[in-house]
Amino acid sequence: MPPSEIPELKDYSSGSLDSFFRAIEEQFHLEAASAASVEEFEQLRIRWIGRKQGLLTRVGEVLKGAPAEARREVGQKFNALKSVIEPRCELDLKLAPRADEAIDITLPGTRRALGAEHPLIRTMNEIVSVFAAMGYSVGLGPEVETDYYNFESLNFPPGHPARDTQDTLVIVNQERKPLRERLLMRTHTSPVQIHTMEQQPPPLRIVIPGKVHRNDAADATHSPIFHQVEGLCVDTNITFSDLKGTLDHAMKAFFGASVKTRFFPSYFPFTEPSADVQISCIFCGGRGCRKCKQSGWIELLGCGMVDPAVFAFAARQQPAYDAKKISGFAFGMGVERIAMMKYGIGDIGQFYSGDMRFLEQFR
Ligand SMILES: [Zn+2]
Repeated sequence: MPPSEIPELKDYSSGSLDSFFRAIEEQFHLEAASAASVEEFEQLRIRWIGRKQGLLTRVGEVLKGAPAEARREVGQKFNALKSVIEPRCELDLKLAPRADEAIDITLPGTRRALGAEHPLIRTMNEIVSVFAAMGYSVGLGPEVETDYYNFESLNFPPGHPARDTQDTLVIVNQERKPLRERLLMRTHTSPVQIHTMEQQPPPLRIVIPGKVHRNDAADATHSPIFHQVEGLCVDTNITFSDLKGTLDHAMKAFFGASVKTRFFPSYFPFTEPSADVQISCIFCGGRGCRKCKQSGWIELLGCGMVDPAVFAFAARQQPAYDAKKISGFAFGMGVERIAMMKYGIGDIGQFYSGDMRFLEQFR
């Protein structure tokens, strides 16, 4: 049968109809088997089941002349032919990928946005790595603390005025418990000092990064949640010189070798003597500028020698913390303040806003 022609139907006898339909079906299978590309399947579909010019439509027209007594048989055989041809055309079209959907493996892939360290985490890790290089290990502890670990064991007795400098967020419904067992959000990372000393005897060198909570109203430089890095060193014969040397080295490692440090007397309940540490202004090199309020110095951290009263609390679990035999120093700094200074950030709220335009600058 020529490709575009319908075989001749001599009459409507069963034999003639059989050979008529068999010839069409064979022709279809032949063409379907040779169709390989998407385009060839599309041509097959149009040629056989296209609405107006499709061969099936034209077969139907040929059959219209059937006499009444042959109509039933003609209808059944025509439906059988359609049930062979139509699904095959549709099926292969669905299976075959369309040209515009095919995967072009030579195209570059879709690039996923890469994450990066948050500037606070990055700053915290940098500070930690400075101390890790000096042999410090990392100490961690819970953010929900008892009054004992957050205050009492750090030499803030009940009613001590120093408690007022740390506006504390307390957990509700704790009033029935003794004060030292009441739960609160830790106001500093210092409770980890006590936890660590209770768990391991001296010598001890730990650096404690972490999140702390205070009932502070948010403004450009305050946030009710912020981060600290705290350090503790305990051994025999630890002196204030060791403290000065350690912090001076750490500030030079972090900010650059030309940075100078100086120490001023201060007060913290858990250290005695205590000091505030200033570094020479990293913006003007100490000549005086707007950032350092023309002083040439920036106050950066607090520190001091561990108060013997703190060792006495630790010694309840670890008798080796005997203030007559060992000594130590502790220091602490605010991560936000350092990151703001290092990256020139004016508003502390930007760290917590989740604004991608801000965070993308730290890739
Ligand atoms: Zn300055």
